[in-house]
Order: sequence, then structure tokens, then C-alpha cells
Amino acid sequence: MEIYVDGSFVSKDDARVSVFDHGFLYGDGVFEGIRAYEGRIFRLKEHIDRLYQSAGALMLEIPVSPAEMAEVVREACARNGLHDAYIRLIVSRGPGDLGLDPRKCTEPTVVCIADRIALFPPETYEKGIRVGAVSTRRTPTESLNARIKSLNYLNSILAKIESNLAGHAEALMMTQEGYVAEGPGENIFIVRGGRLLTPPSHLGILEGITRAAIMDLARGRGIPLAEAVFTRHDVWTADEAFFCGTACEIMPITACDGRQIGDGRPGPVTRQLTADFRALVAREGVPIAAPAHADNQE
Ligand code: PMP
Repeated sequence: MEIYVDGSFVSKDDARVSVFDHGFLYGDGVFEGIRAYEGRIFRLKEHIDRLYQSAGALMLEIPVSPAEMAEVVREACARNGLHDAYIRLIVSRGPGDLGLDPRKCTEPTVVCIADRIALFPPETYEKGIRVGAVSTRRTPTESLNARIKSLNYLNSILAKIESNLAGHAEALMMTQEGYVAEGPGENIFIVRGGRLLTPPSHLGILEGITRAAIMDLARGRGIPLAEAVFTRHDVWTADEAFFCGTACEIMPITACDGRQIGDGRPGPVTRQLTADFRALVAREGVPIAAPAHADNQE
């Protein structure tokens, strides 16, 4: 496996960053998870834009341009011979001293890993998963805006630990006020009376790129759609529910807090949107470049 670290591709064993990197010391940095399907990188521009927006909010200046970063992602896939990939782009504050002042870090670290990911067993995409609300609330926007996709994921990890201990397949996280927010790494949709509902971004959720794609698909199908505030009760009594995200794609939720949702199987709207999403990722996307070293040999 070849991994991009600060300007060059190196083998997995040689891919290293400093223990003084503030990404390691403090979680000071940003990242993106991106997928490629059948040789096409899905919504690459949107992911790159979000990465630079997250970095901008942290006043972290990325040392390469967005266009160069897009090339890095394409080359990482090509060099590793991946047609279907999960790509992790990471920009951390870079090495500094043991104090947290970011001004001491002058060279941000840039890493790109192209690999694969499987969050849930394959059969769960047919059967759905049982989720449970956890007591760990989403960090309030006033404290850390969830729209910043930062390296500091402890809020999600605490939720995941709680959900693992409780035996849920995934955690459902609430806002401080008790409204449904999202999963630790997924956005949520529910279907009620033929309407598709998803929490609005001002509740303090990540504005997911998969979420946006699903909203586009729903509009295209004429499925009534609203960004709305709702509670756990609305999930329990929904006709359908699903999580979505780059890593999990579309994952049907068939029970929440022990309450069966709908008939306990992935519902028709979820299945329709899943089929539409599959078709979308196959036709859209930026083609993966030919490997640079192969170009050089020609
Ligand atoms: N919420 C959180 C907290 C996440 O980490 C992710 C994964 N990036 C998502 C939602 C889904 O976002 P996307 O569809 O852009 O992957």
C-alpha cells in the first residue's frame, strides 16, 4: 500500500508522522472520508470543499491547493490499484511543542490513505440494524461546531462505547435538548406518512455529503422532504428510518430502543433511495487518474 505523506507517496511501513504533531497530541486537525465506486470518486469536489472549510474554521492553512489535493486523492487510488475505495484525507496542525498553541506549528501534515472500509456486516444492508439512543449528547454547536469535521471525535467515540456496551449495532445521538441529531458517524432520515425527514444542520450535526445526495434523490423522485426537528418518539413510531454516510452508505434502521420500526424490515422508500443512490454513484464522480509512475514510464 502506498500512502501520501507531506508531498510524496511512501509504503505503509514508512508512512509516519511526528509524536509532536498536534493532530496526535490534541486532535488538532481536519479530515474527510471519501468513497470511490467503480473507478469514480463520488462528490470529490464537495469533500475537498468541506475539508478546506473545516480547516478555515480552525485557521489551519492547508499547504496544497484544492486542485492539488484532488489530484492526490485520485493518485492515491490509482497507485494502489483501487476501483472501489474508501479514502481518508487528513490535515493536521503539524509538529509543534507540548503546549497547545497552534502558532508554534508551522508545517501542517497532509496524509492521504486509499483503502477499503466495511462498517457493518454485508447482510445488515438487507436486514437493517437495531440502534439505541445513548446518554452522550452531541457537543453543543457553541462549544464545537459539528460542521467542522475535526480530528477530535471523542464525542462520537464515547457514544460508540456506550452503544457497544448496550449491545446496539449503532448509537443514536441527541442534542442537549433531546432532539434527534445523528449517529456517531452517520446522518439520520426517517419516513413518516410518506414524508422524508432529517434533522436540520443548525441542530449541531455534520452536514453530510451523502445526506445532501439523498435529499437530491428524494427531490428528483418527488418524495416530500423536510429538514425538521424531531424526537426519539418520532423514530419509534416512524414508518421507516435509515442512517447514511460515506462509510455506511445507506443503512436501514429496523428498531430503535427496542421498538420495532414499521414492519421491522427495510421499507419501500429506503429501498428506492438505496437503488437510486447505487445508480447515482455509478454514473457520477471524477474518474481515478492513471498512476503517475506509469505515465512516467511511457
Ligand atoms: N455525521 C458525522 C458525525 C460523521 O462523522 C459523518 C461521516 N463523515 C456523517 C455524519 C456523514 O457524512 P458524509 O455523508 O459526508 O460522509
